[in-house]
Amino acid sequence: MHGRGPLTEPAITRLANATIWTSGPGGVLTNADLLVSAEGKILAVGHDVFSRVSVPREPVEIDATGLHITAGLIDAHNHSYILGSVNEATLPSTAMVRVADVVNSESLQIYEQLAGGLTTANLLHGSANPIGGQNAVVKLRWGAGPEEMLFAGAPGGIKFALGENVKQSNRTGANTRFPQSRMGVPVFMANRFTAAQQYLEAWRRFEAGQGPKPRRDLELEAIGEILRGERLVHCHSYRQDEILIFLRTMESFGVKVATLQHILEGYKVADEIAAHGAGASAFSDWWAYKYEVVDAIPYAGTIMHDRGVVVSFNSDSSDQARRLNLEAAKAVKYGGVGEAEALKFVTLNPAKQLGIGDRVGSLEPGKDADFVVWSGHPFAPATACLQTWIDGRKYFDRTVEEERAGRLRTERETLLAAAKKSAGGKKDEPGDEKKAEAARARFFQRALEHMRQHAYSCCEQHEALLLQP
Ligand SMILES: [Zn+2]
Ligand SMILES: [Zn+2]
Repeated sequence: MHGRGPLTEPAITRLANATIWTSGPGGVLTNADLLVSAEGKILAVGHDVFSRVSVPREPVEIDATGLHITAGLIDAHNHSYILGSVNEATLPSTAMVRVADVVNSESLQIYEQLAGGLTTANLLHGSANPIGGQNAVVKLRWGAGPEEMLFAGAPGGIKFALGENVKQSNRTGANTRFPQSRMGVPVFMANRFTAAQQYLEAWRRFEAGQGPKPRRDLELEAIGEILRGERLVHCHSYRQDEILIFLRTMESFGVKVATLQHILEGYKVADEIAAHGAGASAFSDWWAYKYEVVDAIPYAGTIMHDRGVVVSFNSDSSDQARRLNLEAAKAVKYGGVGEAEALKFVTLNPAKQLGIGDRVGSLEPGKDADFVVWSGHPFAPATACLQTWIDGRKYFDRTVEEERAGRLRTERETLLAAAKKSAGGKKDEPGDEKKAEAARARFFQRALEHMRQHAYSCCEQHEALLLQP
């Protein structure tokens, strides 16, 4: 396919004279430079960059006068570019399934979100069960295969969920899957964690020559990784009572929760969340889609931030993921978080929550050269994302977009003509209409990987879709 893949390869590059939002200790710098290495890392940020680092040859110069540069945006809750269902909803614990096995590197959503400045996404399993599947943290390396999109070195994670979805409150028909009540959810989790403790112990005994070799169990292995602090828990959650009992249940197993997702009532228990040390990966101002979210307020992010919780704003939506900069701006509007601090809600804070804060999320020497060039202030509604860079490679450039789109249009027309021919459709001849329709249906049936592209992708909506007959 034309137009996929990076537009440049890494080279020593200087973006000069920009307003740079470092999301790091440097704060916001005006008339500053960003210097990128040929290895795709940040060499220096600020003024007089060449006085601080020497480079072996002349850099590629990009005049960024009047433009703004931020770190690449990071979405801590995203279900785009997942092939097929995001929910393996058949068991209350599906800790063994892996989103990394179904990353759809051909999804156009990658490009659409790149065009909004997104560079890293946490692809999560859905919220249908208390213990869901394993997530995949990816970089939006458009044109790369699924394995190459994975964020190498990012800690493994897993989706958990509480509330209406996991007790199947909004489903019609006979529900028999345990649990069906709020009291069932923590008990179910405690049972699986106890089983995982026994599983780890059985392996320990075997390795010490004190017992038989246990049968490998991928579910308990994943939960065992949580117990050992090697797998991050990201838990879909809304109500304060459920949040509290969940944190206490995890604490009883010595587990620290990485993020509470959505966390719309988190403002009521912000101190408890801060004391536990969990991050809040929240919606800015999205609610009223079901009963358990009735108590949401737009100040929740600010309140949790003020109470010492690491807060991010996520998309949970393929569309919203294209505008995360404007989501961050809402932390300024509701509660008056400082602009530079609010930007961290979609840069450094989600990076910390995903355990990759030492690699991405801010513009600091040594970090990955993942950044966005904006036409103006990143929170201004009229601002456009001009360029998106990952690992020192430019993957999106608004100035070449028209030409790229033209090439894709031509390619599409050629492919459609070829498809029509091979499928035997003769739409133009009277009487053959039905045959042509059937032929087209047969042809497009094969394009399975694109079947769900236009389904609205998020845990909530997926739940709703599953309810459809
Ligand atoms: Zn959710
Ligand atoms: Zn979701």
